[in-house]
Amino acid sequence: LSNEHTLAQLQAHMQSACNIEFDIASLTAVAVNHQSPHSVLNPSDHRDVVGQVSFIDAGSVGEVISTSIAAQNTWQQVPAATRAAMLRRFADLMEEPSRMALLMMITVREAGKTLPNAIAEIREAIDFCRYYADETERLNLSTPVGTVVAISPWNFPLAIFVGEVVSALATGNTVVAKPAEQTSLIAHLAVSWLYEAGVPTDVLQLVLGAGDVGAALTSDNRINGVIFTGSTEVAKRINSLLAARDDNPVLIAETGGMNAMIVDSTALPEQVCLDVLSSAFDSAGQRCSALRILCIQEDIADHVVEMIKGAMDELVVDNPAFLATDVGPVIDAEAQENLLSHINTLKQIAPYHEVAIKSDAPNATFVAPILFELKDLSQLKKEVFGPVLHVVRFAAHELNDLIDQINKKGYALTHGIHSRIDSTIEQITDRIEAGNVYINRNIVGAVVGVQPFGGHAMSGTGPKAGGPFYLQRLSRIHRWDTPVVDTP
Ligand code: NAD
Repeated sequence: LSNEHTLAQLQAHMQSACNIEFDIASLTAVAVNHQSPHSVLNPSDHRDVVGQVSFIDAGSVGEVISTSIAAQNTWQQVPAATRAAMLRRFADLMEEPSRMALLMMITVREAGKTLPNAIAEIREAIDFCRYYADETERLNLSTPVGTVVAISPWNFPLAIFVGEVVSALATGNTVVAKPAEQTSLIAHLAVSWLYEAGVPTDVLQLVLGAGDVGAALTSDNRINGVIFTGSTEVAKRINSLLAARDDNPVLIAETGGMNAMIVDSTALPEQVCLDVLSSAFDSAGQRCSALRILCIQEDIADHVVEMIKGAMDELVVDNPAFLATDVGPVIDAEAQENLLSHINTLKQIAPYHEVAIKSDAPNATFVAPILFELKDLSQLKKEVFGPVLHVVRFAAHELNDLIDQINKKGYALTHGIHSRIDSTIEQITDRIEAGNVYINRNIVGAVVGVQPFGGHAMSGTGPKAGGPFYLQRLSRIHRWDTPVVDTP
């Protein structure tokens, strides 16, 4: 995409694809009468309605769950190879160029993701389908959990939604899926293509709505499991509902993080700078795996922090439909307000470096990427979900104490290390609490089948998504046939 001609063509193609009109109700196998209209707005420009959806009334979810329970017997008798074939077919559909372009446009307009981030997200969804299809055939898991509720966030509106749904389907569970209210359109498209790939409409049902619908689904004592990705606060609520029951339903929860990168004086400044920028500001910092705390050894701190500030000034903060954009908007006005409240508090007490916003769209929800230089970590009490990087300096003898302070925050999702000393890397990895630690590279989330991703403590329950143990959690009985042994 290096010449102007290609850019102009792509822009024109995007423009025409953006004019598709969506008018969408929940995809349930029962007729749900109580639905109310809701407009999905483009976070880059709130005058732009991306589509209309119908939110289900929370009081109606009981009928949807009854339908899901009734579908269990037939679905669990479908051979694993047939279920796997449906997932592979769905992956193939998403990979068709015109469908992929459509997914890309919606991800950009509905979730505010940049084009490279949208493409990476679609690829991750495809990888989830193929990986779980292969695993379900390999594992010979014979008894599903039953009816599983899959609740997903807006920040990976396709990849996480698809990962949750297809893992439960692959293992023979029936699924009621509730995507984040902000990103209902892309979930609707994915479910309609899963139907096209052969999944029956009573086996997978999509209910659209806000948190009250999620709460109604998880409060229904007939469900057998919940796969949840979202905030720690909501996960705790779901956990207490399920824990109060006597039949021990399954809960897989992937939640928040407060992720740090520890950089010692042997690190390569240019590499650190590149990795910090992508880890902290990709997806406008709205990733559970995003870098929030950069801990930098005092000997090289001035040099590296100046380099990072210079690189930040190059970031283009604008409408993500433009190819040059590096950082798009945050998801909505509520997210923007929360971030600005944190930013305005810190601006009173700490030096900072802030990037200019290029977009002048009215009512867009941009937050300028910002770097704060803090004396210590005491100001950071909970997850800050946006393009805000906090830098603290440390002396070599303070390293263990610093790690203990990071651990005390209670999150254990993902951290990074930049060092060229093996014993320092060992010291940090032995002491720091996390599900994933990335060494001399950027901090990222799941790389399906390669780097399974998940945390513990306030960051999640495990098992790690995109890894070998995930499907086993969604199955009750592992069948072990006795090998036939020839007797002499
Ligand atoms: P959220 O918790 O507000 O919402 C997540 C989902 O839960 C949405 O579908 C929402 O409608 C639903 N929900 C809200 N209240 C509910 C309730 N009482 N009962 C049941 N469902 C309810 O989270 P969000 O703002 O959509 O997503 C951002 C959060 O997700 C961040 O904390 C981020 O760290 C986390 N996240 C974690 C991972 C991971 O892999 N660990 C990945 C992505 C996002």
